[in-house]
Amino acid sequence: MVENLFIMEQEFHGALKNSEFRVWYQPQIDMRTGKHCGAEALVRWQKQDGSLVKPDAFVPPLEKLGLIARLDEEVLENVCRDISQARKQGITLGPVSVNLSRLQAGRNVITEKLKKITEEYEITRDELFFEITETADGAEDGLPGLVEQLREKGFQIAMDDFGTGNSSLKVLQESHFDILKLDRYFVARIGDPKAEIILASTIAMAGDLGLEVVAEGVETEEQIRFLLGHQCHLAQGYYYSRPLTKEQYIKWQKVRNSSRAGGIFRERKLHI
Ligand code: C2E
Ligand code: MG
Ligand code: MG
Repeated sequence: MVENLFIMEQEFHGALKNSEFRVWYQPQIDMRTGKHCGAEALVRWQKQDGSLVKPDAFVPPLEKLGLIARLDEEVLENVCRDISQARKQGITLGPVSVNLSRLQAGRNVITEKLKKITEEYEITRDELFFEITETADGAEDGLPGLVEQLREKGFQIAMDDFGTGNSSLKVLQESHFDILKLDRYFVARIGDPKAEIILASTIAMAGDLGLEVVAEGVETEEQIRFLLGHQCHLAQGYYYSRPLTKEQYIKWQKVRNSSRAGGIFRERKLHI
């Protein structure tokens, strides 16, 4: 394990130098209208041997190595560059949600970098927001401070993967989030009465707290019906789209916008 971490550290620095980290985009949808309302930025490691590595294989070791902040910065810079390039071509990429590891908490590095990067690419507050995962082991106590710093800069903050990590309710109590993302573990269990009670209560609680709710991992019409029936309106999942490269995402938006009137999208056939 120690040896593996050592290899990962070497590879990571090489990968940064060679710009091997790519950002893929997964669209987010307002299920009431079928309208596209943003995307989540998901990192992929495109190795020089041609293989594509998903984050579950490298995010946890980078957290252990204390290098996750460096990865998040790299992703943030790539996203801001993509937003800026698209804007110059008259294309709206955002709002894009960037994942920040909770292990950032207690450090000021990301907010300093954030200021520099967003100024360089002239990113506005409605082009970018953040999601902070609560599942990382050994998270520090500085989370409310990190959330506050980002909010002070005018960005909206989502709590990612709600309900599956430790002390979700405590985190919700202590930090000032704008959005709550329901973990796909629960969404996948819609149909099971127990999961449905948990989801319905969580959505109602989020509403009472004034939080917007996004359901992750939406794959079926049954799930969409349940979520809409409980006043959860925003979704992300394979039903609508898998994560896409920037080029695919731009194409996806064009096709979607141009065919809206024709209603060719599956979810538009739903009568709820
Ligand atoms: P996440 O932030 O909760 O991202 C959602 C994950 O669910 C993505 O996996 C996405 O591909 C997957 N997903 C989306 N819709 C569906 C669906 O309908 N069904 C199923 N089965 N899965 C779906 P991905 O891209 O492999 O990312 C895994 C995790 O890696 C992310 O979970 C996030 O915690 C972490 N991650 C990704 N990018 C970054 C990053 O830039 N920085 C940090 N710190 N973590 C990242
Ligand atoms: Mg996320
Ligand atoms: Mg998530």
